[in-house]
Amino acid sequence: MSNDYLDQDHYQLATLAIRAGHLRTHEGEHSEPIFPTSSFVFKSAAEAAARFAEGATGNIYSRFTNPTVRCFEERLAALEGGEACVATASGMGAVLSLCMALLRAGDHLVCSDSVFGSITSLFNRYMVKFGVEVSYVPPQRPEDWRKALRPNTRLFFLETPSNPLSVIADIRGIAEVAHAHGVVLAVDNCFCTPVLQRPLELGADVVIHSATKYLDGQGRVVGGAIVGSKEFVGKEVFGFLRTAGPSMSPFNAWVFLKGLETLELRMRAHSAAAMELAQWLEQQPQVARVHYAGLNSHPQHALAARQQSGFGGIIAFEVHGGRAAAWRFIDATRMVSITANLGDVKTTLTHPATTTHARITPAEREQAGISEGLLRISVGLESMTDLKTDLGCGLAAIG
Ligand SMILES: *Cc1c(COP(=O)(O)O)cnc(C)c1O
Repeated sequence: MSNDYLDQDHYQLATLAIRAGHLRTHEGEHSEPIFPTSSFVFKSAAEAAARFAEGATGNIYSRFTNPTVRCFEERLAALEGGEACVATASGMGAVLSLCMALLRAGDHLVCSDSVFGSITSLFNRYMVKFGVEVSYVPPQRPEDWRKALRPNTRLFFLETPSNPLSVIADIRGIAEVAHAHGVVLAVDNCFCTPVLQRPLELGADVVIHSATKYLDGQGRVVGGAIVGSKEFVGKEVFGFLRTAGPSMSPFNAWVFLKGLETLELRMRAHSAAAMELAQWLEQQPQVARVHYAGLNSHPQHALAARQQSGFGGIIAFEVHGGRAAAWRFIDATRMVSITANLGDVKTTLTHPATTTHARITPAEREQAGISEGLLRISVGLESMTDLKTDLGCGLAAIG
């Protein structure tokens, strides 16, 4: 017996996250199966030939398609409200695939100046080698994106909220600028996930994911994805991926499928916990400033409340006393993990200036607002009492 795909138009997000994309096999399995196979077998020479024909569908080889990976792709496409999704070996693999599918020598791309560090490295060190021009703008105001336009601009790239300072980009406003000039807008939706923000509905053309973070949600595997139109993602991005090979493994796709089943629950819980901690941190005398879009003190609180249905799990805060105080805080905690990963049920704590943002110059760090006293916390799902006790140890160490 095989089930038809869930009719996506009739179901809510929490249901899609649990059920979309699974085409049940003749075995009648309830949980999604893993297909750890590199290639697929044909019934005859004629069937093999037909499968290889231009425009044909059906499995040939797992660099191209794999049923478990396909299930993850269908599910994420349903959650983001996109026509097509292509899964990749990592979030960076998704950004690379986007660039390779879209750009050619002589094109120009505009990137937010507050994006994940490896993305700037990919653009500055590698895309420029192939004749792509890159410029950076502060993400907040559509007007700055308009000013950065050149006749050869092809791509706008941003993430919102940004890492680590939760700067919010106005997706709708920037999409209008992009579309008036034939530019593709790509939004990295890693921090919000489709539970809290749906960039395609706000006018973005492409959504990028590091599935490594909240889509897995339990810090197990690395992966990524691109969601968008059939025409671009389904054909161009897929075409690059099947040729060049940064594909997702079936095992990782299966782990992400299990992660997605609890995505809505987790994102609501991460958001609630982060809100409580952000308000608590704001009241502590050792804390100079808290950056969290859920707070009224955040300069773009209203915009975040408009385009997101929750504020997510990432908080940045500055302690008085610079690097020495920040390091004392970290070293005095007993439970939270000192690691740069985020989006995990385990709370993680980092000092951006000496880890994720260590390789940029002090001037660039200053420009980006990454002070020496800044700490970033990815709020997990441990008991709030235990979290406050642990962070309280950090605060006490500052004095
Ligand atoms: C981690 C991250 C990436 C890169 O994803 P990988 O899976 O590590 O390759 C891209 N964007 C954001 C916002 C991230 O946090």
